[in-house]
Amino acid sequence: MYYYYNGWSWVLLLAAIILSAVAQFKVSSTYSKYAKVYSKSQRPACDIARQILNFNGLGNLPIQQIEGKLTDHYDPRAKVLRLSKGVYGSPSVAALGVAAHEAGHAMQDAEGYMPLKIRNSLIPVARFGSTASWILIIVGFIMGALGLVQLGIILFSCVVVFQLVTLPVEFNASSRALASLEGGGFLDSGEIVQTKKVLSAAAFTYVAAVLVSLLQLLRLILIFSGRRS
Ligand SMILES: [Zn+2]
Repeated sequence: MYYYYNGWSWVLLLAAIILSAVAQFKVSSTYSKYAKVYSKSQRPACDIARQILNFNGLGNLPIQQIEGKLTDHYDPRAKVLRLSKGVYGSPSVAALGVAAHEAGHAMQDAEGYMPLKIRNSLIPVARFGSTASWILIIVGFIMGALGLVQLGIILFSCVVVFQLVTLPVEFNASSRALASLEGGGFLDSGEIVQTKKVLSAAAFTYVAAVLVSLLQLLRLILIFSGRRS
């Protein structure tokens, strides 16, 4: 098989995978903790999101409630803000953070925020590449067809680029969220600190994912150059 043992890169990759798991755990525990902390205003997240959108000239943008846990997202094609059941009607500092973060993505879209444009243009290739790259790489190694492996590595690099440009988009949406929540007087400074913890934990999962992918890419390149020589 294509198993090429490269000690250090393997240890680094394992460390990144553990880090990623820790990040996932951290975000769910932080979210559950602050989903129980209600803001002093007691206003539900859908209301706050509505007002943030209105403030930013997005009064016509609909907000819908959807099924699922933390399925919240802004849909740039349908131009709709969708909030999950647990967030929509909740007045918790966590829910407000999530709702305001998604409103932040809507603002990015409305003003043509460049990193978002780049990210959205990469979605199809990233979606295709995340599966196709591994198939090409594994089949390529089994068949000894290094051209296929190379193509797989190139596709995988596109996925990594996608994950990298996702970072500024996510960080920016969270800083817009905190500014809107504080600026609009929806949360006081103590509550902002709590909301920030939730959003930072979420952002860290993206950073960990990038790290895992970068190390996987590094390993693939090492394995490939090992095979070629
Ligand atoms: Zn986001």
